[in-house]
Amino acid sequence: MFKKLNILDEKDPHLRKTSKEVSFPLKEEYQKLIKQCIDHLTYSQIPKYEEKYELRPGMGIAFPQLGINERIIVIVHEVDEGVFDEYVVINPKIISNSEEIIAAEAGEGCLSVNREVEGHVPRYARVTIIGYDQNGNKIKIRAREELSIAFQHEIDHLDGIMFYDRINKKKRFYSEDEIRLI
Ligand code: ZN
Repeated sequence: MFKKLNILDEKDPHLRKTSKEVSFPLKEEYQKLIKQCIDHLTYSQIPKYEEKYELRPGMGIAFPQLGINERIIVIVHEVDEGVFDEYVVINPKIISNSEEIIAAEAGEGCLSVNREVEGHVPRYARVTIIGYDQNGNKIKIRAREELSIAFQHEIDHLDGIMFYDRINKKKRFYSEDEIRLI
């Protein structure tokens, strides 16, 4: 049965802490929460369920948003209509990045931020991430474009960084010839 996640608001101090490395084997409780995150994120991106369960659409959650300051992120990326790629990364680390910088043209959103925040968030166009899967196996992921932004956004949560911290307060918007907007 689907159980809606209780996602903390940006004002909660958990969102400003540096989270700690996770040790294996992963707690049963975390396995369950990961499953719940995947369901929540998937349903939130399917209009029928989004409405039924009153969900805000989102593609990623980091554990601090659930009140757990441990380094776990979950991303559900819609690659085609109704087709989703799921990523669960434990102790994720960005090991390389492109020089090219991009930003989501419409700005970023966050399931913990229940207000409009305007401005472009500069992000690497491509990143390579290493980490572990739920069984403790090493994994390596190459992400580009929207998925790259999602990984950077979620990994920031593990270090207590909110997306709007990265908006240039003196210059909230960029033009196409400054950075590529997607
Ligand atoms: Zn977020």
